[in-house]
Amino acid sequence: MGSVEGLPYLKTNPKIIFFTDFDGTITLQDSNDYMTDNLGYGVERRREKNIAVLDQKLSFRDAFRDMLDSVKTPFNECIERLLKAVKLDPYFSEFYEWAKANNVPIVVLSSGMIPVIRALLENLLGHKAEHLHIVANDVQSRDGKDINSEGGWEIKYHDDSHFGHDKSLEIKPYAALPTDERPTLLYAGDGVSDLSAAAETDLLFAKKGNDLVKYCERQGMPFTVFEDWSSILDVTKDILSGKVSVKNVAQEGERTVHRKQK
Ligand SMILES: [Mg+2]
Repeated sequence: MGSVEGLPYLKTNPKIIFFTDFDGTITLQDSNDYMTDNLGYGVERRREKNIAVLDQKLSFRDAFRDMLDSVKTPFNECIERLLKAVKLDPYFSEFYEWAKANNVPIVVLSSGMIPVIRALLENLLGHKAEHLHIVANDVQSRDGKDINSEGGWEIKYHDDSHFGHDKSLEIKPYAALPTDERPTLLYAGDGVSDLSAAAETDLLFAKKGNDLVKYCERQGMPFTVFEDWSSILDVTKDILSGKVSVKNVAQEGERTVHRKQK
């Protein structure tokens, strides 16, 4: 094994690194949509912005900032509301415990804000989420105000990309490792914004019931469909034990989708 400097997830010499989206993938509801719809300018304006992004009239970065800027609720109150409204996938805890016991680092890559993600995970898992890395956007004071005051906070983007957070940046150095040093890289996601990140990994777990599957097929990306984290856990166990290869899983994934479409 070469130097792990700058590659923190290699520290324990894992066979698999599991990268994952947060909102809608680990959680059942999207926390940013929830804030915009219930505390900000509402679902209609949000949908308009989403469409403008799809039509390439607006960058995701600008649209997302606009949505969150419409939320004036103090940041601590936003977190309290989200803790009541957002639920975790019922099998994520089990996956988390298994990953911890089997040296599979979990890396959450999100467009959401770190303090929101941490608060939701710790509340829903019922303990500190120390076996889990979070790479996401952050929150900052607006105009020097206290973030826990009315209109006091705004999103602080992770990087200069037009996504605000380019999720592929975190994966690329691992994907570039020589084959004999490179762990298997897995990714779970539910949105089209997960595609650029998933393209760097060996297999994408794409959440059932959205456009992601269609995009994967069009781009020839290896994927398998999941409904909840129990199937992700089963497949990841089999990949770790060598019972199946990522290639087998992707081929089987394709077949399942085509069978269902017939
Ligand atoms: Mg998502």
